[in-house]
Amino acid sequence: MRWFFLSVIVLSCFASSGQRCGADEGFKELLKKDPALIDKLKNLGNLSGLNRPVGTNETFIIPVVFHVLYLDSSEVSEIDIRLCLKDLNDNFGKKNLHFNEIIPEFKGIADSAGIRFVLASKDPAGNCTSGINFYEDPAANWEELSPTNFSHTWNSRQYLNVYVPQSVKKADGSYIGGYAYLPGSLPPGDQRDAIVVSGNLLKNGENLFYGKETLTHELGHWFGLLHVFGYVNEAQIDCYGDDYVSDTPPTRGFYECPVSQKDYQFCQPGVSENFQNFMDYSYCRMMFTQGQTQRMRNVLTSTIRNNLWTSENLAFTGGAEPLRPCVTNINLNVFPNPSALKTNITFELPYAQTVVMNLMDLDGRIVFEDKIGATAGWNLYNLSLAEIPQGIYILRIKTSAGTSTMKLLVRRGFF
Ligand SMILES: [Zn+2]
Repeated sequence: MRWFFLSVIVLSCFASSGQRCGADEGFKELLKKDPALIDKLKNLGNLSGLNRPVGTNETFIIPVVFHVLYLDSSEVSEIDIRLCLKDLNDNFGKKNLHFNEIIPEFKGIADSAGIRFVLASKDPAGNCTSGINFYEDPAANWEELSPTNFSHTWNSRQYLNVYVPQSVKKADGSYIGGYAYLPGSLPPGDQRDAIVVSGNLLKNGENLFYGKETLTHELGHWFGLLHVFGYVNEAQIDCYGDDYVSDTPPTRGFYECPVSQKDYQFCQPGVSENFQNFMDYSYCRMMFTQGQTQRMRNVLTSTIRNNLWTSENLAFTGGAEPLRPCVTNINLNVFPNPSALKTNITFELPYAQTVVMNLMDLDGRIVFEDKIGATAGWNLYNLSLAEIPQGIYILRIKTSAGTSTMKLLVRRGFF
């Protein structure tokens, strides 16, 4: 679990032309303190995949929640978010409309990541949600590393959290388009384990290309990818940065989109650079390579991210496909009630799942608990009360629809 002892690694990204990100000073400081950080970054692609599905064509479904922050009224709409999500899925599924524009040198290794993003329909308490939360927040304009950021995060082992503050400013006063933390660089449960995209890029469809591609780019970081020009935030420095992916050639990175071959064969004559890669800074980003998608899938199947896509987690978050209706009322009933030695419990579920049932006395003590493999539709459970003392109890059933409760009276003798 050495990953959890890593210091925080932050990668910031430029927003649009004129809004470049600077090299991250914090990262340089980390390197001074921990030179082994480079090896740890390199090994992100070699993590052993646990619980990896058998076969090669699996699609990992990731439940997503957006947290949109605003001062007076949000300029980012739900429609903007949904458009971005569609584009995100096109990018990760190699379906984007620009695919035919990939230069021949890279067309053969452009790859689908096999990752699909779905808005969560259940919040952590089991309530129905659109997966897009709007918060009026006096701190909606973020300072990049402010400790007050990330106050709305839902468990990052269950949800991919996307923050959309109005803007993000670096310590030097410049604005950036977003940032993200590399997997394993934060302690488990840290609220910062999320990605950030500035609302300036998403609002009302303005700059939507940058917004959508920035979202894709930040997710690349969250799944373990570095910039194709290495672990700094500044492109056009030198040819020696490495992203530890074998099929992305050495490059200085690009802010523009070169037309002439000599301009994109700068580092090694005759070797084209992948300026169209989502992990570069150009405005024509449109692909991941096979090496990058393999690295992302290795991270996704490692212990850092391997809970997100399990069927249990998709049931919990309501992110399962085909989309299932969010149901909060399971029509819980108990009869007879009051009861002496046994009672019958019925409830209705939209789909099969494991539910937890318990009885709690009025002092909050759990006197009985069971896990039940419940089916879709009506369920009947016969509860024996022979070992339960007389008294008043709260019957609780925890399902993907939330927790339902009823009062149960256990009384012996005549009634
Ligand atoms: Zn970046």
